[in-house]
Amino acid sequence: MKLSSRAKKLQPSATLAITAKEKALKSQGVDVIGFGAGEPDFDSPENVKEEAIKAIKAGFTKYTAVGGIDELKEAIINRMKLDYGLEYQKPEIIVSNGAKHTLYNLTQALFEEGDEVIVPAPYWVSYPEQITLAGADPVILDTKEEEGFKIDPVELKKLITPKTRALILNYPSNPTGATYNEIELRRIVDVAMEAGLIIISDEIYDKIIYDGIKHTPVAALGEDVKKATILVNGVSKTYAMTGWRIGYAAGDKEVINAMGKLQGQSTSNPTSISQWAALEAYRGPHDIIETRTREFEKRKNYIVERLNSIPGIKCFSPQGAFYAFPNISGYFGKRYNGKEINSSMGFTEFLLDEAKVAVVPGDSFGSDDHVRISFATSMENIVKGMDRIEEAVKKLG
Ligand SMILES: *Cc1c(COP(=O)(O)O)cnc(C)c1O
Repeated sequence: MKLSSRAKKLQPSATLAITAKEKALKSQGVDVIGFGAGEPDFDSPENVKEEAIKAIKAGFTKYTAVGGIDELKEAIINRMKLDYGLEYQKPEIIVSNGAKHTLYNLTQALFEEGDEVIVPAPYWVSYPEQITLAGADPVILDTKEEEGFKIDPVELKKLITPKTRALILNYPSNPTGATYNEIELRRIVDVAMEAGLIIISDEIYDKIIYDGIKHTPVAALGEDVKKATILVNGVSKTYAMTGWRIGYAAGDKEVINAMGKLQGQSTSNPTSISQWAALEAYRGPHDIIETRTREFEKRKNYIVERLNSIPGIKCFSPQGAFYAFPNISGYFGKRYNGKEINSSMGFTEFLLDEAKVAVVPGDSFGSDDHVRISFATSMENIVKGMDRIEEAVKKLG
């Protein structure tokens, strides 16, 4: 059948593809260490599961309001107030089927042909694809590893044209783990505000942050900035609830309303049971998040040290999220089995073949010099995987 040009242009999600390949190998009995995971290895909290079971038993199994139940919106609002002093009203909130869906609705609601949207690289794989799907053009703003993968406001300014509509921010970042302090954020936001851009701020890793760094939401930088910002977050990463599919946007009520119309004609409400579970996540006890983040931090410290001790690898120390993003370009031009490695995909294939370790090639995130290694896996797996990588790269001549 003839496919639409829209569908033909789409790239499959590389992270999901690698996880699938890893699972396939494992089911064949191959002992693969998987560093591909884009989700916490922890289980969803017990209180959340209990609440979901209660919701089923209580019959909360029907359609809800398209943009989410009021109780959940209130819990989200309370959370933002408690954590960051941010004030939102219910018409400024929409709950969707995961933050990915939130971002999809948002790009569909805001962008069209002729629009440009600035996406800092390395980027989360779905941003450019979703912008393209909306008919707009992603404009890539490269960041430098030596500058901690942070946006240079001067470089940002250079990319702004009369067509530029928005800037995408994602911090702590997937895949780099880079984040911003308030001063850095302000310098970036000043440039965006001066140009009248919308700021889409994906802060889904706000709670998974290291080295004593405090997360500052863009929207907390002032009332004018808050007005220009659509904040995106969800329960997937913070509460280890990826499968429940709950994300949200907070911001301008006209935009939220448009997203609601899109949702009303496509998916309708996010799963009723998941909404009650998410409500419990937001209002319930939060000590488990701190405990889990400290566990991630231990793994981060270990993995970065191990990677940096391998000749040919250079690894930036992530300040948040749960990915290491080592530079592996030191191996370009080296050979194994007669094949020359000259891309992140080449190195990923080499690791899968020779080390039985699965990582994600950096080119899908906009950097071919890197691979992404998720440390959302046990310390035992990390130790074994690092040993294997260290041994395997010795074979490269
Ligand atoms: C995981 C992730 C999301 C989407 O998460 P959902 O499960 O759809 O809520 C969005 N942005 C980034 C950067 C992510 O890593």
